[in-house]
Amino acid sequence: MYKAYSKEIDIGDISTLKEINEDLTSRIVSNLSTTKKIILRLQGSVEIGRFLMYGWKEKLPFYLFKCDEHGYQIAYPSGHYLTLHCPKCLKKEIRIRMILHDEIPEIREDPIVVEA
Ligand SMILES: [Zn+2]
Repeated sequence: MYKAYSKEIDIGDISTLKEINEDLTSRIVSNLSTTKKIILRLQGSVEIGRFLMYGWKEKLPFYLFKCDEHGYQIAYPSGHYLTLHCPKCLKKEIRIRMILHDEIPEIREDPIVVEA
Protein backbone atom coordinates (compact mmCIF):
# COMPACT_ATOMS: atom_id res chain seq x y z
CA MET A 1 0.00 0.00 0.00
CA TYR A 2 1.18 3.47 -0.88
CA LYS A 3 0.33 6.48 1.23
CA ALA A 4 -1.79 8.99 -0.64
CA TYR A 5 0.71 11.79 -0.16
CA SER A 6 3.89 9.77 0.04
CA LYS A 7 5.62 11.95 -2.55
CA GLU A 8 5.06 15.12 -0.55
CA ILE A 9 7.81 16.45 1.66
CA ASP A 10 7.50 16.33 5.41
CA ILE A 11 7.26 19.86 6.78
CA GLY A 12 6.08 18.89 10.23
CA ASP A 13 8.95 20.58 12.02
CA ILE A 14 8.32 24.24 11.24
CA SER A 15 7.50 26.31 14.30
CA THR A 16 8.29 29.87 13.23
CA LEU A 17 6.93 31.87 10.31
CA LYS A 18 10.51 32.66 9.23
CA GLU A 19 10.94 29.03 8.28
CA ILE A 20 8.30 29.45 5.60
CA ASN A 21 10.63 30.85 2.99
CA GLU A 22 10.94 30.67 -0.79
CA ASP A 23 13.01 27.50 -0.61
CA LEU A 24 10.38 25.65 1.42
CA THR A 25 7.59 27.00 -0.79
CA SER A 26 9.27 25.83 -3.99
CA ARG A 27 9.97 22.41 -2.47
CA ILE A 28 6.31 22.09 -1.50
CA VAL A 29 5.17 23.19 -4.97
CA SER A 30 7.46 20.73 -6.75
CA ASN A 31 6.39 17.86 -4.47
CA LEU A 32 2.67 18.53 -4.57
CA SER A 33 0.53 15.47 -5.21
CA THR A 34 -1.73 15.35 -8.24
CA THR A 35 -4.78 15.58 -5.97
CA LYS A 36 -3.51 18.73 -4.32
CA LYS A 37 -2.52 20.25 -7.66
CA ILE A 38 -6.10 19.77 -8.81
CA ILE A 39 -7.49 21.30 -5.61
CA LEU A 40 -5.11 24.26 -5.99
CA ARG A 41 -6.23 24.81 -9.56
CA LEU A 42 -9.93 24.46 -8.77
CA GLN A 43 -10.20 26.50 -5.59
CA GLY A 44 -7.13 28.72 -5.80
CA SER A 45 -5.58 27.40 -2.61
CA VAL A 46 -4.82 24.08 -0.98
CA GLU A 47 -4.15 23.17 2.62
CA ILE A 48 -0.60 21.91 3.10
CA GLY A 49 -0.89 21.10 6.78
CA ARG A 50 -1.71 22.37 10.24
CA PHE A 51 1.08 23.88 12.24
CA LEU A 52 1.63 25.27 15.68
CA MET A 53 3.77 28.38 15.52
CA TYR A 54 5.78 29.59 18.46
CA GLY A 55 3.49 31.54 20.78
CA TRP A 56 0.26 30.22 19.31
CA LYS A 57 -2.35 28.42 21.36
CA GLU A 58 -3.46 26.03 18.67
CA LYS A 59 -2.53 24.69 15.28
CA LEU A 60 -3.76 26.60 12.26
CA PRO A 61 -4.12 25.35 8.69
CA PHE A 62 -1.57 26.70 6.24
CA TYR A 63 -2.42 27.07 2.58
CA LEU A 64 -0.49 27.22 -0.64
CA PHE A 65 -1.82 29.73 -3.16
CA LYS A 66 -0.60 31.84 -6.04
CA CYS A 67 -0.20 35.59 -5.76
CA ASP A 68 -0.56 37.39 -9.10
CA GLU A 69 2.55 39.40 -8.36
CA HIS A 70 4.75 37.13 -6.25
CA GLY A 71 3.92 33.61 -7.41
CA TYR A 72 3.37 30.73 -4.99
CA GLN A 73 3.03 31.72 -1.36
CA ILE A 74 2.17 30.02 1.92
CA ALA A 75 -0.01 31.66 4.55
CA TYR A 76 -2.62 30.94 7.15
CA PRO A 77 -6.09 32.52 7.14
CA SER A 78 -6.08 35.75 9.09
CA GLY A 79 -8.12 38.84 9.75
CA HIS A 80 -11.79 39.27 10.48
CA TYR A 81 -12.85 37.35 7.36
CA LEU A 82 -10.11 34.72 7.67
CA THR A 83 -8.60 35.38 4.28
CA LEU A 84 -5.22 34.46 2.84
CA HIS A 85 -2.82 37.34 2.34
CA CYS A 86 0.38 37.12 0.34
CA PRO A 87 3.19 37.67 2.88
CA LYS A 88 5.16 39.68 0.31
CA CYS A 89 2.21 41.92 -0.54
CA LEU A 90 1.76 42.49 3.20
CA LYS A 91 5.41 43.46 3.54
CA LYS A 92 5.06 45.81 0.59
CA GLU A 93 1.95 47.33 2.12
CA ILE A 94 3.68 47.85 5.45
CA ARG A 95 6.73 49.40 3.78
CA ILE A 96 4.60 51.81 1.75
CA ARG A 97 2.65 52.78 4.82
CA MET A 98 5.87 53.53 6.71
CA ILE A 99 7.26 55.66 3.88
CA LEU A 100 4.00 57.58 3.63
CA HIS A 101 3.99 58.08 7.35
CA ASP A 102 7.45 59.65 7.17
CA GLU A 103 6.34 62.04 4.45
CA ILE A 104 3.22 63.21 6.20
CA PRO A 105 3.97 66.49 7.99
CA GLU A 106 3.30 66.58 11.64
CA ILE A 107 -0.36 67.21 12.27
CA ARG A 108 -1.05 69.10 15.43
CA GLU A 109 -4.40 68.79 16.99
CA ASP A 110 -6.11 72.11 17.44
CA PRO A 111 -6.90 72.82 21.05
CA ILE A 112 -10.56 72.43 21.87
CA VAL A 113 -12.09 75.84 22.36
CA VAL A 114 -15.01 75.84 24.70
CA GLU A 115 -17.29 78.76 23.97
CA ALA A 116 -18.67 80.52 26.95
ZN1 LIG B 1 2.05 39.08 -3.39
